[in-house]
Amino acid sequence: MSEKDTTVVASNFLRNIIDRDLAEQAYAGKKWAGHPSDAQGLSSAPEDAAKIRTRFPPEPNGFLHIGHAKSICLNFGLAKDYAGVCHLRFDDTNPEKEDQVYVDSIKDTVAWLGYSWNDNLYFASDYFNYMYDFACALIQADLAYVDEQNADQIRENRGTLKEAGKDSPWRNRPVEESLRIFEDMKAGKYPDGGPCLRAKIDMASPNINLRDPVIYRIRHAHHHRTGDQWKIYPMYTYAHPIEDALEGITHSICTLEFEDQRPFYDWLLNHLADLGKLARPLPHQYEFSRLNLNYVVTSKRKLLQLVTEGHVSGWDDPRLPTIAGLRRRGYTPEAIRLFCERLGVSKADSTIDYSVLEQSLRDVLDPVADRAVAVLDPIKLTITNLPDDHAELCQAPYNPHDEAAGVRNFHFTKHLWIERDDFRIEPPKKYFRLFPGNTVRLKYAYVVKCTGYEVDEHGEVTEVFAEYIPDTKSGTPGADSVKVKGAITWVSQKEAIQAEVKLYDRLFKEPVPGSDDRSFLDDINPESITTVHAYLEPSIRLEKDRWQFERLGYFCLDKADRTIAKATGQTDTLVINRSVTLKDNWKK
Ligand code: ATP
Ligand code: MG
Repeated sequence: MSEKDTTVVASNFLRNIIDRDLAEQAYAGKKWAGHPSDAQGLSSAPEDAAKIRTRFPPEPNGFLHIGHAKSICLNFGLAKDYAGVCHLRFDDTNPEKEDQVYVDSIKDTVAWLGYSWNDNLYFASDYFNYMYDFACALIQADLAYVDEQNADQIRENRGTLKEAGKDSPWRNRPVEESLRIFEDMKAGKYPDGGPCLRAKIDMASPNINLRDPVIYRIRHAHHHRTGDQWKIYPMYTYAHPIEDALEGITHSICTLEFEDQRPFYDWLLNHLADLGKLARPLPHQYEFSRLNLNYVVTSKRKLLQLVTEGHVSGWDDPRLPTIAGLRRRGYTPEAIRLFCERLGVSKADSTIDYSVLEQSLRDVLDPVADRAVAVLDPIKLTITNLPDDHAELCQAPYNPHDEAAGVRNFHFTKHLWIERDDFRIEPPKKYFRLFPGNTVRLKYAYVVKCTGYEVDEHGEVTEVFAEYIPDTKSGTPGADSVKVKGAITWVSQKEAIQAEVKLYDRLFKEPVPGSDDRSFLDDINPESITTVHAYLEPSIRLEKDRWQFERLGYFCLDKADRTIAKATGQTDTLVINRSVTLKDNWKK
C-alpha cells in the first residue's frame, strides 16, 4: 500500500466502537474454548482473542463493483489498522445463482485492491453441517418448527407494519414431529416449495423480521461446492450470524438495510450460545450507509442484465462501475482506496457525485504519470518555411513533478498533426489558438503564424498552413521574443505512432437511472463510447500502461484488447482507453 493511503486516517463511528472495545478488553483474556471452528480446522480460529476480526462476505453471484470496494476497504482496512484479521468469506447459500467463475473473480479483485486474507478464506457451505445441527438444536429447544403453510399463506399471515401476524397452524406442533419432517426435508423426501423451518419468536413483534422468520427452505439444486448433497439450504439471515460466530468475528460490519435484522442476529446467536452450540463473546453487527454513486447502477441484477443483454461488452466493460471495468478503464488500486477513504463511513444515506471518483484517479496519477502528446482528432499542419527533410530535436520532461523520470525526445518536422479544435477559420471571442493571421506556440517547439488553410467540398478544413518564426524555440533565450496567448500540442506526421483511442462518457444520461418509473435501460446514453484514430508522440513509453496526454486527460492501454489483438495476430493495433479527462466535465 502506498504512503498516501495510510498517512491520514479519518476517524469514524466504527473506529470509536473498536477503540472502546479494545480499551475495555472486550476480547482479551476471553477463552474461545470449545469453539466449533476448532473442529472445523479453521486455520486462524481466534487463539489471539485480543485481536479484532472482520470479514468481507460476498455472495459469489456476480462481479464486484465500486460499492463492494467500500466494504472491502472498510473491513480489510480496519483489520490492517488495528493489527487484526479480515476474512474473505463466500456467502454461498443460494446455489442456483452462484458459480466458481465469480469466486475466482472476487478473489482476484480483493487481491488487486491490495488486500490479503492470508489463509482466512472461508465458504458458508463449509458450515452447512453446523447450520443443520444448530437448527435441530433450536427445534429441540422449541425455538423452531416446521411450517407446512405455502409461501402465499406465510406471506398473508405475516401481517403488516400496523397489524400483527397470525400464528401458523403448525406453530405448536410437537417437537418430535418437526424434527422428523426436517430430517425428511434434508433427505429429499419433499419437493421444492414443500415445508420450511421457521424460528419460533413472536408473530406480533413490531419488527416483522422477528415474526417467525423462515430459516431453512427446500431447494433441489446443484451447489457449486457441495454438489447434490443438500436438498435444504439455510436462509441468508440464519446463515450469516452463524458464519460470523463460527469464525470468531468480532465486528460484523454490513450495510444499513440489515439494521432491522440485527435483533434476529442477536436472538439467534444468544440462543445458540445458551444451548452450548456457540462460544461467547459473540460477534456484534454494525451497520453503515452503502455507497450510492450517481450515473451508474450497482445492483447486481441490473449489471447482469446489462452484460447478458449485450448493452455493454462484458463485466469488464470500461463504462461499468465494476472493479473489473474500472481496472480496464485505467483505475489503479490506490485511486479506488483513496476514493473509499474520502467517502468516510457513516450511517447517513447519501449519493456521491461520480466526479469524486474521477478526482481520486487524477490525484493519484498526477504525481506519477508519464506525460505524452496525443492528437485525437487530427488535421494536418504544414510549416511552409521548413525544408521537407527538416527534423529538429525537441525535448520535454516525462514528468514535470519528477526530473528523474527523464526527458522525451521528438522532432519538429514540416508536416505535423494538430487537434482539429485548435484551428478556427473564424475564431470566437477569447480564442487564442490558430486562426488565419494569428501566432501561437507549438508546445516545446516554435512560435508559428497561421498563413492559410484548405477545405474540402463540404467546407471541412483538411489542412492548415503556417510559418515558423526562427529564434523562438522553447527553452532558448529568444523564446519570449514573440508574445503569444496560446500554446497547442502537435505530433510529427513522420514519427507519430498510430492508435485506436476509446473515449468514454457516462453510461447513463440520468443521475439516477430508471427513476420516475422508467426502465434503467431507457436511460442508457447512446453516445457513451466513441472510437477515434489518434496519433501519439514517438517517445511515449508504451510499457508504462498509463499516461497523461497533455491537455486531454489520463489514458491507459486496454488490456483486453491487447489480448484480443494478440489472439488475432494483429499485434500492431494499439488500443487505448481514456480513463478520465483532465478537468471535471460531469458537473453541468
Ligand atoms: P445481493 O446481496 O443483492 O446479491 P450485494 O451487493 O449485497 O448484492 P453481496 O455479495 O451480498 O452483494 O455483498 C458483499 C458485501 O458488500 C456485503 O457486506 C454488502 O453489504 C457490501 N456491499 C454491497 N453493496 C454495497 C454498497 N453499495 N456500498 C457498500 N457496501 C456494499
Ligand atoms: Mg448482499
